[in-house]
Amino acid sequence: MDEEINLKRCPSCGVPKKISSLIRWNSNGTITQVFNPDFRVVVLPAGFIREIFDSISNQLGVSIDHVVTEAQKNASRAVFDTIFDRIPGVRYALKLDFMKRLQVKSFHQVAVLTGHCHSETVEYIPRVRAIGRVKNPFDLDLVGANVAGAFEALEQVPYSFQWEKESENTYLIHIEATGGANELSERLRIEIPPVKPGTFEHEKCPRCRVPRLIGNFVWDEREGTIRGKRFGSRVVLLDGYMLTAVFRELKKELGEDAEEIITGAQREWMLSHYGELGLARNLRMLKGRELEDALRDSLKTLPALGHGNPTSVRIIDDELEIHIHNPYEIHILGGTASALYESAFGKSCKVKIEEKSPSIVRYRIVPV
Ligand SMILES: [Zn+2]
Repeated sequence: MDEEINLKRCPSCGVPKKISSLIRWNSNGTITQVFNPDFRVVVLPAGFIREIFDSISNQLGVSIDHVVTEAQKNASRAVFDTIFDRIPGVRYALKLDFMKRLQVKSFHQVAVLTGHCHSETVEYIPRVRAIGRVKNPFDLDLVGANVAGAFEALEQVPYSFQWEKESENTYLIHIEATGGANELSERLRIEIPPVKPGTFEHEKCPRCRVPRLIGNFVWDEREGTIRGKRFGSRVVLLDGYMLTAVFRELKKELGEDAEEIITGAQREWMLSHYGELGLARNLRMLKGRELEDALRDSLKTLPALGHGNPTSVRIIDDELEIHIHNPYEIHILGGTASALYESAFGKSCKVKIEEKSPSIVRYRIVPV
């Protein structure tokens, strides 16, 4: 059995010190890994991805779970591949079994720091199979994909995973080296678009320099969860690329319809989770300049979560125009923008997405 993980915390804001040493909040709306500065991280509500993809699957009448799982496995593999390749000597060291075992231990730390689950090794035979005990996985498919992807990076061979329920909220994950890549995985390769510098000023903790907003979350290393202090809602830290890879594949299959379906799913999700997102204030009471300021305020949470940098918000008659630099996913943010529109104007709307460059998007939300 592995020893317990005990996180040391910032005495001022309570955020684990490992978080401030491993990831960085930038002034351009992104969060990136310190050892891997091209790689973005986003903070997302734990149930969000499942609900969005279930909603899309329902509309399509077919499940897209296998697409999501493959994309997440790729994203996880890419995260660890770049770390192992970037730090000199790591690849060489990881040829040794005892170094692999140490690395597997650090996967358990990552699971706790990202709020994905609490995990421990039950059995590990390098390049063959591993069994782990997993408590509170935020999503079985996505956690399974992350674990398999991490082992793929470690061992450089493809892995598959299977779950076995042990008791309430506790599972055994069995992962096995499968040999042979698959074609779907190839199509779902993640892409890392360039980012634009910015001047967004976070209100930060004076000691650890993590944004104040992040201090509203509580890491529980025994449970493997991160929860908001106010509503107890669970969040996770995730790579910022999996959603884009899945949506790229959907757009190839469905063309423009995909855009409508994805932004629609996000709009519905936002409107039904307004309370827990802290956006419950009644925008509809406001007009003109006051409304513009309130919308700008609502969007100020995006950079702390790594979702992008909202650089301008304008109301022109009954249209809303928002510019976002470095959006982590253009359709999801389009859905967010249209949900804000609906709550502010009380009208149904359509969102027009214009990509001015890979890192600048203009949203025009117009009534229909
Ligand atoms: Zn702090």
